[in-house]
Amino acid sequence: MKECDSPTFQLATEQFERAADALKLDPNLRERLRLPQRAVAVTIPTRMDNGNVQVFTGYRVQHDSALGPTKGGIRYHPDVTLGEVSALAMWMTWKCALVGLPYGGAKGGVKCNPQTMSRNELQRMTRRYTAEFVSVIGPDKDIPAPDVGTNAQTMAWMMDTYSQQRGYAIPGVVTGKPIVIGGSRGREEATGRGVVTVAIEALNMLKIPVKDTTVVVQGFGNVGFHTARTFHEKGAKVVAVSQSTGGIYNADGLDIHALMRHLAEGHSLATFPGATPVSNQELLEIACTILVPAALSEQITKKNARHIKCKIIAEAANGPTTLEADQVLEKNGTMVIPDILANSGGVIVSYFEWVQDVQKYFWEERDVRERLHHIMKSAFHRTVEFSRNNGVNMRMAALMRGIDTVAQAHLARGLYP
Ligand code: GLU
Repeated sequence: MKECDSPTFQLATEQFERAADALKLDPNLRERLRLPQRAVAVTIPTRMDNGNVQVFTGYRVQHDSALGPTKGGIRYHPDVTLGEVSALAMWMTWKCALVGLPYGGAKGGVKCNPQTMSRNELQRMTRRYTAEFVSVIGPDKDIPAPDVGTNAQTMAWMMDTYSQQRGYAIPGVVTGKPIVIGGSRGREEATGRGVVTVAIEALNMLKIPVKDTTVVVQGFGNVGFHTARTFHEKGAKVVAVSQSTGGIYNADGLDIHALMRHLAEGHSLATFPGATPVSNQELLEIACTILVPAALSEQITKKNARHIKCKIIAEAANGPTTLEADQVLEKNGTMVIPDILANSGGVIVSYFEWVQDVQKYFWEERDVRERLHHIMKSAFHRTVEFSRNNGVNMRMAALMRGIDTVAQAHLARGLYP
């Protein structure tokens, strides 16, 4: 699959190869798991508001379904490629297995710029994308969710389009929906909340009180915002946040609620009172306790890794750190809580949502929070223990644990036919 060539796919594949070496993975399985089980590309002709038709390209990649239906978000971004989506699908497989969900991994994407499209254009494109994948997705087959550039509204359109085609309401086909049509309480903030849960476990290990902690967050979308907000509410000082155009810094801490109101009123990040503008590059190099990359992949590289001055990196984004950067960080003693562990709160609460939809029995927010906390805390400590027992870093430990579970499932099921 030459089309899979992309820096992100190379990163995911190389991580897999290293973990497979360490696990001495069966060679046949290794060949199978290196590539997706199924990858579908479609064209999405969409009527734009000016009457013209624009043809977008969309993908859905199912990496592996040995453990259950495949699961993963849909990304709307101008840089979406088949390679990137395939890498993200592979990471979903390891992530679900690592935290013990009965799911395989998938990811979807449309190459488009949602920021320049109207609500009606997004709706028409989303519905056509869903229609093209009606036979590919399904509550027992493959369950999409939000990712970069998509949200609860996108999921509502997908749920409606799929349900219209089947003839009755099927809420379990997607997760991250509005609560009124079968979404779960606590899903929207789940990824950010989970990032903070594992980061606090790491702080406890290093004996650093939360109130003495400074946090820098790159990316202020759903995940970045809820991570910053939760840290702020727990008494940590969020000293810098950024969007793709740049960030802001205040050594005394930013009031995240006030910042949210400022943005909601239509003001830009850069005009937030009392804060100094910083570039995205400068932001990564600010001295702090915890750095949270919550934007896109390959942000921490060979070039900037040696300038990073934090104790802990909690990877809220998928694939934010390159292989070379990982080596530099390890040498410098920076603790990296890897993406498939740190950001697994989103898919964990997606699983809760799907369970609630299938059972038609809905939980209190307190139940969601408690169960999320329990799963993430124990996944964190089991990964730390594996890393110590096997003399590998946290990323390698998380990958090895996830991959090993998937490999065991394949070996138990055997080869068809
Ligand atoms: N897009 C999120 C992720 O990368 C959530 C996926 C899901 O909930 O299925 O983990």
